[in-house]
Amino acid sequence: MVYTSLQSPDRPDYQYQLRVAHLYGNLLNTYGDNGNVLMLKYVGEKLKAQMTFDIVSLGDSFNEKNYDIIFFGGGQDYEQSIVAKDLPDKKVSISRFIEAGGVGLAICGGFQLLGKHYIQADGKKIDGIGVMGHYTLNQDNNRYIGDIKIHNDEFNETYYGFENHQGRTFLSDDEKPLGKVVYGNGNNQEDGTEGVHYKNIFGSYFHGPLLSRNANLAYRLVTTALKNKYGQNISLPAYQDILSLEVAEEYGDVKSKAEFEK
Ligand code: GLN
Repeated sequence: MVYTSLQSPDRPDYQYQLRVAHLYGNLLNTYGDNGNVLMLKYVGEKLKAQMTFDIVSLGDSFNEKNYDIIFFGGGQDYEQSIVAKDLPDKKVSISRFIEAGGVGLAICGGFQLLGKHYIQADGKKIDGIGVMGHYTLNQDNNRYIGDIKIHNDEFNETYYGFENHQGRTFLSDDEKPLGKVVYGNGNNQEDGTEGVHYKNIFGSYFHGPLLSRNANLAYRLVTTALKNKYGQNISLPAYQDILSLEVAEEYGDVKSKAEFEK
């Protein structure tokens, strides 16, 4: 049964409402992925949006019209194989959501399952739902683990993270990477790509979690969802005015910028 796991408190000053489907959030939530949910909530509230998060899991129907954002975390091969069996029932609605420009973030296992297929560490092939064109191979006795830095040329933004995956993902021609690898392994250690960007869906191998380390990407996701819902011309506070270190300093969230950057 779909249930609400988290919601912004009732306050009179919200101007907007955003509803997030946390796909299989009770199964795929490794390495701090749920921190992405907390960050979406934090940024949404800064933008005056009341945020609601629903867990949509095994046996639940996903009605794309009810949601503005989807979040799909990562997991071990075992949990992933359970989710893979349920996903085909949600394929059509997830595909409609993506093709209509819905906003989404998929981490690691979730990223892999949106693609065509995934080869587990033991060599077993798991079908993805193929709503995006990438596919994932395995590797012998190895995982890509460590710090990683990438750059997105289109947005001229840099993202930092920590990757931990055995899968090696290859993008299709209609997909862009989330960024080019500056250091680290990325999707496959061969083509210099990390993650994916297709329409308004972003995928990545960054755990840790991605959005709290990269508030610029969190801002992009939430503002895109708000514009989708309330119109491209709505006026929203600039990133610098709500999320920069200077603002954090002013409100006492961090001791000082110099200290933070040490
Ligand atoms: N099981 C997948 C892999 O190892 C995904 C792991 C994860 O989500 N961290 O590639």
